[in-house]
Amino acid sequence: MTGFTGAFWRSGDVGFSDAAVANIFNGRRPARRPAAVLRAADAADVAAGVKLAAAEGWKVSVRSGGHSWAAWSLRENALLIDLAALNGMHYDAGTGIAAVGPAVRSGLDLDPFLAAHGRFFAVGHHPTVSMGGFLLQGGMGWNCRGGGWAVEFVESMDVVTASGELVRCSETENSDLFWAARGSGSGFFGVVTEFRLRTRPRHRSLTRATYVYPVDVATEVLTWFHAVRRDVDSSVGFLAVGATPPGFDSPVVIIDGVSFDGGPSALAALETCPVADRALKSTAAQPTAMSALFAEQSDGSPAGLRYFVDNVYLVGEASEQVPALVAAFTDLPTPEASVILSDFSPQMSRDLPDMAVSLRPDLYFAAYVAGRSPADDDRCRSWLDSVMNRLSPYSDGCYLGDSDFTVRPDRILSDVAWSRLQRIRAARDPEGRFPGYLGTPLQ
Ligand SMILES: Cc1cc2nc3c(=O)[nH]c(=O)nc-3n(C[C@H](O)[C@H](O)[C@H](O)COP(=O)(O)OP(=O)(O)OC[C@H]3O[C@@H](n4cnc5c(N)ncnc54)[C@H](O)[C@@H]3O)c2cc1C
Repeated sequence: MTGFTGAFWRSGDVGFSDAAVANIFNGRRPARRPAAVLRAADAADVAAGVKLAAAEGWKVSVRSGGHSWAAWSLRENALLIDLAALNGMHYDAGTGIAAVGPAVRSGLDLDPFLAAHGRFFAVGHHPTVSMGGFLLQGGMGWNCRGGGWAVEFVESMDVVTASGELVRCSETENSDLFWAARGSGSGFFGVVTEFRLRTRPRHRSLTRATYVYPVDVATEVLTWFHAVRRDVDSSVGFLAVGATPPGFDSPVVIIDGVSFDGGPSALAALETCPVADRALKSTAAQPTAMSALFAEQSDGSPAGLRYFVDNVYLVGEASEQVPALVAAFTDLPTPEASVILSDFSPQMSRDLPDMAVSLRPDLYFAAYVAGRSPADDDRCRSWLDSVMNRLSPYSDGCYLGDSDFTVRPDRILSDVAWSRLQRIRAARDPEGRFPGYLGTPLQ
């Protein structure tokens, strides 16, 4: 008898092996395994799980949707609390606030749910990314470039603390926990069982333009991207993608813009590329829908491939960065690999709320290197290592969500925010019940 409403397995029990890795997105799985798994039915189960872990001398690891690339939820000598069943959604039309469980998925659950109420929240780009890990690390959602981090729009959270107590945290209640939960990500020392989100009226129009260029003009395209990005309307998500999309048998450079309510004129700057006449394919500004954007993300990044991922917030001159970027865009190691260069310049002039998220990406580079079999692993790993080595001199830190500190540590918070996080952690989790980051950020 465990006393849990949900399911519980100790290592060796029938079903333990599957429960330990349930819902992990990356097909490349680490050898780490927990001591036990609790598939919690509700917040009371989570609280009881944290107390059991203390009694057994285990750490507590957490899984909401399993999308951490490096499978952070798998830790040794830990009770893994799987929150997959905490996927409720409720919308209050009086306040505009949506209460959601941490396992609610971005595009499969929350976006269509809010659309039915005429509302929007800046969920993750991929439809199956879950709100738990996504929000805790900041959340680079749709329209993040002009609209801000998703976690800026969290009004409050319910958290089971390291002592097994269920508390509410917000700007006015347990504000230290609330500060830490907005950016510490996998270094958080509690379990969020519900988020309350400030939704906004849904966009009236969604307009997209894409231009596909051959890699032999990658230098010209990326140099232009650097030059034009600050002139692109803040309603637009603006990025360059290196990938081998359907219909192409080798990598291409894609310039992509999606405007929320800006209409075609917001995308006019994308027509100014000096090698526009070299585009292999272009789709001028035209209406699109969130469902189409999610479907494309899903097709482009399927679950189960063997992913290696890293990223960097870039600073410096285009003339220095572009040669390193061109190599990454033109020389992808597998047909499934992709890289993005995403502009966040409008973020630089915004004031951030007082929260752990404290670095601002001006220009974001991320590589998603995927193979289909273990035989691809060495090639993917060494390609990614060499790309990141070339870009590291221009690093101003990185985004926790696309990082793996066991391979390449980088800075995730400002120095002041990092020190404050350590002080709150020492007070809130003095026994170190929550294991912290896998690998050590470079702070
Ligand atoms: C295909 C794909 C696309 C992605 N796209 C985006 C994107 O558009 N924008 C973006 O910002 N990120 C993106 N990411 C990164 C993703 O947001 C992070 O990996 C995030 O951690 C995933 O959340 P999760 O709950 O699904 O993951 P999990 O692996 O379940 O959680 C990761 C870790 O976060 C912590 N955690 C999660 N939930 C809780 C909780 N309720 N309480 C306490 N701690 C918790 C735990 O330490 C946990 O181990 C993407 C990832 C993938 C695989």
